[in-house]
Amino acid sequence: MGAIAIYPSLDGGRKRGGTSFAGGTLICECVTNPVKVKISSDIAHNHACGCTKCWKPSGANFSIVAVAPTESVEVLENGDKLAVVDSSALIQRHACKQCGVHMYGPVERDHPFKGLSFIHPERFEEDGWAEPGFAAFVSSIIESGFNPSDMDAVRSRLRELGLEPYDCLSPALMDYIATWTAKKNGVLPA
Ligand SMILES: [Zn+2]
Ligand SMILES: [Zn+2]
Repeated sequence: MGAIAIYPSLDGGRKRGGTSFAGGTLICECVTNPVKVKISSDIAHNHACGCTKCWKPSGANFSIVAVAPTESVEVLENGDKLAVVDSSALIQRHACKQCGVHMYGPVERDHPFKGLSFIHPERFEEDGWAEPGFAAFVSSIIESGFNPSDMDAVRSRLRELGLEPYDCLSPALMDYIATWTAKKNGVLPA
């Protein structure tokens, strides 16, 4: 058996991203009339995600997902092809109804991620965005049918790729969320 497939563009080793990325244009997979979404800022917290909600290209066990400020997201072309996947979800994932690619997912609810939009940087027409830095929700790939007995191999492969595997978000993001909650509840000074 070959190396466990994590993600097509990562399986050959991580590509070093740029240290400063000014944004770019996300494009869906449609050959004609693709949806184009402009991101006019850098991205943050880029990571591999094993959850069942993120969009993954065919053959990928993980998605590649990052955030950008929602105020820097602008639908440029064919926005009429977009629909929200699940309006009850925290992340309002706007997907192309034709090819299924998730183009952007704003968080609008009162939440530490409010004001941020989740995007898939591999859909950028431009290179130079920061590479993924960790792997989140790793155990969740089992929910998509991945063989549980191969999970040790997945975690060692992720470490080999420099993507520390976590079964929720990274400690930095979990601390960020908990701090927001503690301030909101008055346990910590705001
Ligand atoms: Zn499309
Ligand atoms: Zn996910």
